[in-house]
Amino acid sequence: MVNGTLGTMANGSILPIYGDGVVASTLGTTPRITSLLIKPVSAVCNLDCTYCFYLDRETDPYQALSRRAMQEETLERLIDSFLFYSYPNSVFAFQGGEPTLAGLPFFRRVVELQKEHGRNGQNVSNAIQTNGMLIDEEWCALFREYRWLVGLSLDGPEEIHDLHRVNKSGHSTWKRVMESLRLMQREKVDFNVLCVLSKANVGRAKELYRFFTGLGVDNIQYIPLSEFDGDGNPLRYTITAAEYGQFLCETFDLWWPQRRKIRIRTFDNIAEALAGQKPGTCTMHETCDSYVVVEYNGDVYPCDFFVEKDWRLGNIEIDSWTEIARKQRRYAFARKKALAHSECEVCEWQAMCHGGCPKSRYAMNRRFEDLDYFCEAYRMMFRKSVPPLREDVKKILGREVSLPQVHSISPY
Ligand code: SF4
Ligand code: SF4
Repeated sequence: MVNGTLGTMANGSILPIYGDGVVASTLGTTPRITSLLIKPVSAVCNLDCTYCFYLDRETDPYQALSRRAMQEETLERLIDSFLFYSYPNSVFAFQGGEPTLAGLPFFRRVVELQKEHGRNGQNVSNAIQTNGMLIDEEWCALFREYRWLVGLSLDGPEEIHDLHRVNKSGHSTWKRVMESLRLMQREKVDFNVLCVLSKANVGRAKELYRFFTGLGVDNIQYIPLSEFDGDGNPLRYTITAAEYGQFLCETFDLWWPQRRKIRIRTFDNIAEALAGQKPGTCTMHETCDSYVVVEYNGDVYPCDFFVEKDWRLGNIEIDSWTEIARKQRRYAFARKKALAHSECEVCEWQAMCHGGCPKSRYAMNRRFEDLDYFCEAYRMMFRKSVPPLREDVKKILGREVSLPQVHSISPY
């Protein structure tokens, strides 16, 4: 268990699940917001991927609004206030929908504002996730000059990618994405590939690995699809936990001899945890509080999967970052991850996994207390990868490496 006082604060008072108040400052240090996931055009996108959970969500608070684009005043307030709050390390990530629809001038302004409002000694990093449809030389010049990390969505070879990733007319997008990939390679842009695992490609681990590495891609992130209908039945492209686990184990075997040259995010994250660092993925954190989402109008939410009215934390035009960080709703959401299922409480991987991702627990039956849909995959992956990675990390660090410990003290 992460927290022995589930649902109850350290002073014994019960927090409401939903509430607008802030947590009293007498309760100790507030967990900081370490990075922002900014949606400059909200969920608006120029593609119509068949598996996209973001398009036409009933719970999307902004669905009825036709124009959704961040205004300059909101952007300036966002950058100025967050640079101040997060000094000296400020992490900005842009996502959508498709964030490049905000236009290149918007992103040039992002950099100008960061230069204008940043202070001496401030480290600023920027990342953007794109479907690659609009990337050209001018975008590449900005990304290269200011060392943005670009995530490019590509699901594999043409026939796999085009099965789901189609434009608004239902036409293929693979060739255009490949143009962007080649361009970014030529223009020396730092990028990784984000590959969504659906029924179309989860059984083809070797083919995917060879395809990406054959293109010269050395940084790959696999995202498993798990979407359900209103009755909790998996949608047709949703993969099973066993399929995902098998995919990861096969990929691990392919990757292991090349592990110093190729980055696979999942395995990097396990190595980070073994080395005693905080893993890069929130799924492996103890609580859900490392980043927040900022919508186009300045509204703030605790997670990309919970941009919903009931989880709104505030708005940057009204609330300071310190106030947002202390919102009771943020605490209530962060704590969801600590609602350990009875299987997690006795699981040998609990200190690595922390019960998985609340989104994957909640998705089927709308219950945060359920077991993560991908639990079986995590177990397969840990069983396969932890022993060799542990030896490897031990060699690199020159000291004994033990599994992380489950902490008994939590700010929640
Ligand atoms: S619900 Fe899942 S994706 Fe959201 S912050 Fe928690 S672990 Fe991360
Ligand atoms: S592997 Fe499964 S049982 Fe173990 S902590 Fe993760 S979700 Fe829970």
